[in-house]
Amino acid sequence: AIDLQKVNKSFGDHHVLKDVSLKVDEGTVTAMIGPSGAGKSSLLRCINLLERPDSGTIDVEGVVVDASTKITAEQLRKLRRNVGMCFQHFNLFPHLTVLQNVALPQRRSLNRSKAEANERAMKLLERVGLADKADQYPARCSGGQQQRIAIARALALDPKIMLFDEPTSALDPELGLEVLAVMRELAETGMTMVVVTHEMQFARDVSDHLVVMANGAILEEGHPEEIFTAPKEQRTRQFLRAVL
Ligand code: ATP
Ligand code: MG
Repeated sequence: AIDLQKVNKSFGDHHVLKDVSLKVDEGTVTAMIGPSGAGKSSLLRCINLLERPDSGTIDVEGVVVDASTKITAEQLRKLRRNVGMCFQHFNLFPHLTVLQNVALPQRRSLNRSKAEANERAMKLLERVGLADKADQYPARCSGGQQQRIAIARALALDPKIMLFDEPTSALDPELGLEVLAVMRELAETGMTMVVVTHEMQFARDVSDHLVVMANGAILEEGHPEEIFTAPKEQRTRQFLRAVL
């Protein structure tokens, strides 16, 4: 679970997160939508401390970090172990095979043996429909396949939470669908997920909780169906009109 309390973040004099508080329950999918520059990526990056908030408290699976106190290496390690992340650009290692891409981080981060890591990697590649690509290099895979490999790589480290930042926005729509299907299945397994997305259909169908951000703050949040059918805020209506 995640519990953010009054998180603030500025870049120079640009205040990009303004007192953002957010709870994400265990086993739920939270979709985050909103216009470009709203602060969605910044918020996601604060959750796993890729960005340090200027003030506020972040509790991720019981690792509690207050912006006013120093973050210990141990806290950071614990937090990163619990949280997997997938970005728009998947950054696979080009010189490693697909299997090695999924296996190597397990050996480095979790000290798994080669055999153990390879076995787990194969299982996950099967799960994302890419077992037949195990011995290929990423460059020989489509963008959608590469993103699914990146998801397998993140899952291989047994995260408790998965964060996604527009994982399909760099892909052709058809390839994006393959990735969304994998994410949908992951949601069905009960993984706790936070998904920043422009895929309104996915947000509507798959998420348990919808968060609408604009201008560094949460405009409104609640049940996706309710927000899509009857948004409370004028700014949400305006955004949904533009994207639907
Ligand atoms: P998009 O939908 O375009 O991805 P977003 O909601 O993810 O937008 P953020 O990337 O969080 O928005 O950016 C919020 C604001 O913070 C933007 O105005 C952006 O220019 C600014 N910003 C983000 N990262 C940095 C940074 N490292 N340095 C300076 N400004 C930044
Ligand atoms: Mg973003």
